[in-house]
Amino acid sequence: MRTYQSPLDLVRERSPERPVALVRPDVLAVAAQWFQANFRGDVLYAVKANPSPWVIETLRRNGIDRYDVASLPEIDLVARHAPGAKMAFMHPVKSRAAISKAYFDYGVRAFALDCQDELAKILDATGHARDLDLIVRLGVQTDGAAYSLSGKFGVSADEAPALLLAARRATEERMGVSFHVGSQCMRPTAYQAAMAQASRALVRAGVFADVVDVGGGFPSIYPGMTPPALADYVDSIHRGFDEMKVHETTELWCEPGRALVAEASSLLVKVELRKGDALYLNDGSYGSLFDATHFKWPFPVKLVRDGEASGELRPFRFYGPTCDSIDTMAGPYWLPEDVREGDYLEIGQMGAYGVAMATRFNGYGDTELAEVGDGPMASQFGLGPRNISTPRVEEEDARKVVRFSRPKGAAGKKRRKR
Ligand SMILES: *Cc1c(COP(=O)(O)O)cnc(C)c1O
Repeated sequence: MRTYQSPLDLVRERSPERPVALVRPDVLAVAAQWFQANFRGDVLYAVKANPSPWVIETLRRNGIDRYDVASLPEIDLVARHAPGAKMAFMHPVKSRAAISKAYFDYGVRAFALDCQDELAKILDATGHARDLDLIVRLGVQTDGAAYSLSGKFGVSADEAPALLLAARRATEERMGVSFHVGSQCMRPTAYQAAMAQASRALVRAGVFADVVDVGGGFPSIYPGMTPPALADYVDSIHRGFDEMKVHETTELWCEPGRALVAEASSLLVKVELRKGDALYLNDGSYGSLFDATHFKWPFPVKLVRDGEASGELRPFRFYGPTCDSIDTMAGPYWLPEDVREGDYLEIGQMGAYGVAMATRFNGYGDTELAEVGDGPMASQFGLGPRNISTPRVEEEDARKVVRFSRPKGAAGKKRRKR
């Protein structure tokens, strides 16, 4: 992968025809280290947020050795790019073939489930293995997330106790609980509230959990969506954990996707045509910009031009390259008023659910990869635009406690002994 100092250097050197995923491994490294230094437990990367090999390899180099996977292709990807890493198959609905292959060929031991039939399926497909970590996905009621992730999965409060008991009896290894408060969760206390719900289910079942997995949902920064400091999220989780009735050896897990990778990549696109306030780009909703179309996600944009731009900003909307009229991004995206055909735009905070969402519909959607040495457009890890390895911590961000050494002997790293 070629490295450029900045997106502008890349444009100057080769005026790319295809969209370029601009990657910043150093930014990812800072995020990975932040989670390990500040979260009192095990950090599993949720691979679906960005399954690019550079992401897996960078996380591995920076101490993340556990992965939340949801399919065999994700399992195979992690096995190839982070050999020996531990994986948890956290999709609550899996095929028998996928369960068997994960267990027998890839050594996966942790499996999520949210109903009795899936539990029976996991037991069958692993030849009634006794060494499974069975994680019961709970449906939790929380608000404050931009995206709900409890519409489809999660056992109800009524049915949870019986399922927890069945999972407890089915394994000699760990039985755990998990939930997902929703992606881009804007309210730290949502975690503590979900953990209280998990606690009630465990008490009603009369069992202890060996694993409490608080899922993902940790937010990133987008225009109009500046979340509280990430430190407030881990504080809420640590308080929630302290309030739960658990063993001394109970492990705390989290599965961040978005917050780990969002800042670490952006997208460089080319303006193919301008019609009034509409810009026709070489990438769109069938490429990396699914969320910009379908959820009107407010990604930050800036003009990358070798030369002067007019100072006045005005609102634009975007069209993607396919012939489908749904391939539209309403924005509004604020750009200099003289933006024109041949210009390049950088769309920021695209590391999570960007390239991960791309299809090749209509012959578009492919991206090139290039590494850039500048900073992200916005950072919740105190990163300045040109100052990555020594992040700047602003006075008002002092609460964020950014630390850069690897944690030693963090509570969750203790392996359980019984
Ligand atoms: C998608 C997903 C995640 C990651 O969620 P983010 O909001 O990106 O942090 C974690 N766990 C599970 C089970 C998921 O489905």
